[in-house]
Amino acid sequence: MAEPTVPAPQADPNADLDVLILGGGVVGNTIAFHLTERGVRPTVIDRGFPLSGTSGSTQAWIWVHTKTPGFYGELSLASADLYRDTLAPRLPGIEYTRTGGLSLLFSRDELARAERLRDAQRPYGIDIEVVGREGVRRLEPHLSPEVAGATFSPHDGNVNPFQLVRRLLAAAQAQGAAYRFYERVVSLRERRGGERRFEVRTDRGLLRARRLVLAAGLWTPELAAPLGVEIPVRPVRGQILVSEPLPPVLGHTLNFMRQMANGEILFGYSQEEAGRDRRSTWDVLSATAGLGIRVLPLLRGVRLVRAFSGLRPMPRDGLPIVGEVPGHPGLFVAVMHSGYTLAPLIGTVMAELLVQGHTSIPIEGLSLARFEGG
Ligand SMILES: Cc1cc2nc3c(=O)[nH]c(=O)nc-3n(C[C@H](O)[C@H](O)[C@H](O)COP(=O)(O)OP(=O)(O)OC[C@H]3O[C@@H](n4cnc5c(N)ncnc54)[C@H](O)[C@@H]3O)c2cc1C
Repeated sequence: MAEPTVPAPQADPNADLDVLILGGGVVGNTIAFHLTERGVRPTVIDRGFPLSGTSGSTQAWIWVHTKTPGFYGELSLASADLYRDTLAPRLPGIEYTRTGGLSLLFSRDELARAERLRDAQRPYGIDIEVVGREGVRRLEPHLSPEVAGATFSPHDGNVNPFQLVRRLLAAAQAQGAAYRFYERVVSLRERRGGERRFEVRTDRGLLRARRLVLAAGLWTPELAAPLGVEIPVRPVRGQILVSEPLPPVLGHTLNFMRQMANGEILFGYSQEEAGRDRRSTWDVLSATAGLGIRVLPLLRGVRLVRAFSGLRPMPRDGLPIVGEVPGHPGLFVAVMHSGYTLAPLIGTVMAELLVQGHTSIPIEGLSLARFEGG
């Protein structure tokens, strides 16, 4: 019988990671995917499963036209174009659909505001048409006659959030990214002497990395705090109702409602300051149901199958916080609301930053530095 062979001592695979991403939601996964597209093999760590954070409780509109005119609108438009031109062809099955978006108006007073929005977005290449009662009914015949008009824009659409994250993850993994799920990060340390390293203690052991990306959504502030870094993000709760699957009744993404490819209608847009309380509540769900029926009367005869709520990671000024953390070389952050709209853009710029040290579009305006001094 052959002698059992003694395995050669193995180098500790965790001793010297190149890039470690904290958070496996849509943001962590888009960064991982775009890094692997450029030959970098990051490790992604999450205390739960990929959609256990906010990314699993979302509407996932790819929404452009009502974003604040200027920089934020431009970023959203650039990202929507990346879905169409790059990401959707690269990752078939994510159900990205450029439906066009309708932001509904309920009174004539709102028409004047809509015209101002149209004029403000035009210089940034964001096309908006203001349509009246008849126009909106032509675009969406099932909408209630109570809807007085809408702004329509061809840039908006939606994606299947579950398929997007699943496919980003699978592609990143196939290209060399490593994933560690159900592993909680408990503390971070930055070693500055000699070669810089980040020490990441988890409930399973110690990891070291040359570069660390904080992409833990709402939970990023508490991870960053021990490094002396303040990330100004707060939770804003949103509650959503889900109908049984219906034949196609909505052709567009509405600023309140969308229809999934499987026929379910998701509706709701509450914005609540409820701390980290993620419960669904009767008052908001009944108001949401009432508005749903008011907008789309056929919902009255339709079964509701699910309600869920999620916590938006909302930066203090509403804009994403993205880039290298000032004063902490090798430490990067990517935290934002609208993580689905921005996913291809944020993945691209973060990968550029980590690989080349600069980005193809200026992102200084997204730096954490803008909050310095309060
Ligand atoms: C109701 C609602 C509707 C929305 N609609 C839209 C929309 O239409 N379009 C759009 O673009 N955006 C929308 N958003 C926002 C969007 O969903 C978020 O911006 C996005 O999901 C944030 O992704 P993330 O990866 O940053 O965070 P998350 O998905 O929360 O991922 C962070 C991950 O970090 C992990 N983590 C936390 N702490 C630790 C730790 N200590 N150790 C290890 N891992 C940890 C968590 O488990 C989690 O998986 C909506 C949000 C809500 C709530």
